[in-house]
Amino acid sequence: MTVQKNQQTILIIDDAKENIIVLSRLLKSQGNVIFAQCGEEGLHLALQSTPDLILLDISMPGMDGFEVLMRLKQDQATAGIPVIFITGIPDSDTEEKGLTLGAVDYITKPFPPAVVIARVRHQLNLQRLTLALKEANEQLTLLAMTDPLTGAYNRRYFIDMLKNELLRARRYNHPISVMMIDIDHFKKINDIFGHNIGDQVIIEIVNISADFLRKSDVFSRFGGEEFIILLPETALELATTIAEKLCAKIANSPIRIPEKNLVITVSAGVTQVEAHDDTLEKIIKRADTALYQAKQQGRNRVVVS
Ligand code: GH3
Ligand code: MG
Ligand code: MG
Repeated sequence: MTVQKNQQTILIIDDAKENIIVLSRLLKSQGNVIFAQCGEEGLHLALQSTPDLILLDISMPGMDGFEVLMRLKQDQATAGIPVIFITGIPDSDTEEKGLTLGAVDYITKPFPPAVVIARVRHQLNLQRLTLALKEANEQLTLLAMTDPLTGAYNRRYFIDMLKNELLRARRYNHPISVMMIDIDHFKKINDIFGHNIGDQVIIEIVNISADFLRKSDVFSRFGGEEFIILLPETALELATTIAEKLCAKIANSPIRIPEKNLVITVSAGVTQVEAHDDTLEKIIKRADTALYQAKQQGRNRVVVS
């Protein structure tokens, strides 16, 4: 079976083969129809193929439809899938129970085919919108925490993470270090090669650093050509070694620009968070002061504060 791109998937869970046949025929124009003949198999398929809609029978041997719905709702991976009960029980208490458990609709047999199609289409449209909205929200969240030029985290995200890590460090007494780095004589790059090449250099420095650092390190662009890195679970000695290696790595990775290789260096200031009486401002100030000293002492070096 070929599944068209953008085609939505409808899962039918019903123990009666003839119901599955009738519904599949009816709904095949609305999406890719898959089916299961018992609750367990239905749950398995729901997890495996995250359908856009589930049509669920109530009376089934073994696990009934209510139980299937409850389990779908308990699992985060399936809780968002809309479920329509489709049943031969035309009883308002049963309908109320189904809707209370979280079904979006309740269809009783025998049903006029056009009505089933209309209700299914309505739920599929809603689900398409819901998923699009969720994706847009995820995009927005990502945009709010990253820097558009480089994709690195931004200053706001760094501050939030540092606040969290400070709390954790106080509670568990874990070491944290912070490193601030700044590209040396960067103004000259802009002056000689132009702003676009300057941008390219910033992007390359971010790429080299991100490759070098650990996944748990929070690398963020603090401003212009200045970066700040949160090193969780890292005491000063190790942080200093990491900073020295990163400086060397950058100095030894010439950046390719049209017809030239540019050797770029950075300076770094490193400090360890004092878990008990440190503040965000004090930490950043210490890293900044150490960075300033590294510049004063000739650049392309690390100073610890
Ligand atoms: P130092 O070694 O003391 O750090 O000298 P520097 O020239 O690197 O530092 P300075 O602060 O004098 O200059 C930094 C320059 O970075 C100035 C600013 O125009 C430039 N800059 C800031 N943000 C960007 C950016 O996003 N793109 C480009 N191309 N340049 C930027
Ligand atoms: Mg600079
Ligand atoms: Mg600077």
